[in-house]
Amino acid sequence: MVITEKQQDIFNQIDKNKGNRWTDWKWQIRHAIRDLNTFEKLLGVTLSDSAREQFEDITGRFPMAITPYYLSLMDTDDLENDPIFKQSFPVAEELTIDSSEMNDPLHEDEDCPVAGVTHRYPDRVLLLVSNTCAMYCRHCTRKRRVGDVDSVPGKSQIAAAIDYIRNNPQIRDVLLSGGDPFLLGDDYLDWILTELRHIPHVEVIRIGTRTPVVLPYRITDDLVEMLKKHHPIWINTHFNHPREITDSSRMALKRLADSGIPLGNQSVLLAGVNDCPRIMRSLVHKLVMNRVRPYYLYQCDLSEGLSHFRTPVGKGIEILESLIGHTSGFCVPTYVIDAPGGGGKIPIMPNYLISWSTNKVVLRNYEGVITTYKEPDSYEPTFCDRNCEECNLNLSLEDADERKSIGIEQLLSDYNETISLIPANNSRHERRHS
Ligand SMILES: *Cc1c(COP(=O)(O)O)cnc(C)c1O
Repeated sequence: MVITEKQQDIFNQIDKNKGNRWTDWKWQIRHAIRDLNTFEKLLGVTLSDSAREQFEDITGRFPMAITPYYLSLMDTDDLENDPIFKQSFPVAEELTIDSSEMNDPLHEDEDCPVAGVTHRYPDRVLLLVSNTCAMYCRHCTRKRRVGDVDSVPGKSQIAAAIDYIRNNPQIRDVLLSGGDPFLLGDDYLDWILTELRHIPHVEVIRIGTRTPVVLPYRITDDLVEMLKKHHPIWINTHFNHPREITDSSRMALKRLADSGIPLGNQSVLLAGVNDCPRIMRSLVHKLVMNRVRPYYLYQCDLSEGLSHFRTPVGKGIEILESLIGHTSGFCVPTYVIDAPGGGGKIPIMPNYLISWSTNKVVLRNYEGVITTYKEPDSYEPTFCDRNCEECNLNLSLEDADERKSIGIEQLLSDYNETISLIPANNSRHERRHS
């Protein structure tokens, strides 16, 4: 691993002992920067009075932790505008709670059948296995839990959560999240993955981790050797800015990709960090060069204290407009709003379908060319009563098990008579029943 001069300097200031342990991930965690004086001393900077003033108040509510590695990426010549600094250093705006903000906007604690599990979608669950992170992102959607030592999931809690997955055969995809699952030791993680792999209906296991960004040394040969035993494993990481892609993070991504793990990236659209089409374009290009597929671009959640990070939705649409058609299709993430109240992720796109008639649609492309697509003059819809045995479409039922249709899919189907979905508290309907 390459160690820069600046990293060597920070190391020498922190550790008086001989021998360089900079690339030891546990050393990095033990020496995470949590206070103002150490921060200033290590970087050789003096922050403005306004930046220092409310530091204690803010960190009393939302603590700070920055790995020496992530700290070493900061541009001290322009600290206040630095994307690394902005994602990791507390600012007073975090204490401004907007009236539309919520402690748990995604209602993750409600869609929770057993501690540590969020079961929102029919076939997949979020399994919270760790409550700590190497670096505390200022834009964390689970800020309510950061530093809350009381909710560190113990082994028996995780065993109970795995029992829930075992007892619910519709779950085919398990997402390990937290906190950061990679802050757990290899053996413990190995135990969780082994338990999950013993469940026949668990087809894929996904891991969400920011360690390739903030603690790339965590991706050791031992770790990837262990992960390989549990394939198919997918990993999603969280790069927000092209400056986060360094030699060390490239090496971490290479190790993961070389061990056969498909890599995805989930970015959050953040005002002042990456709300710029050029920055996002550079980011997605660097990601795919490292075999990472941009997966989601998130609209910033309505969690408390994030209002200074939020952009209008139009900014995300503008960014997608600058990517779709202009660059490789696999460079384009899906832009999503995670529905407040727990509705899940809702994709947002620029509009490409401009108009339509009974046999023609009018479309526009990324250049502004307006075109038509002529639809077939006759199309015999296959009436679907879900009597698949008698249908002449060739469907092998083995891989397409039946499940109840819900939501909009239900409205489109032939076999279900539902013609509208009505909110539970619709007063017009309440009047009818009374
Ligand atoms: C994001 C998320 C998932 C996974 O969603 P995908 O669209 O499949 O990536 C699952 N459960 C919860 C609660 C989530 O927030």
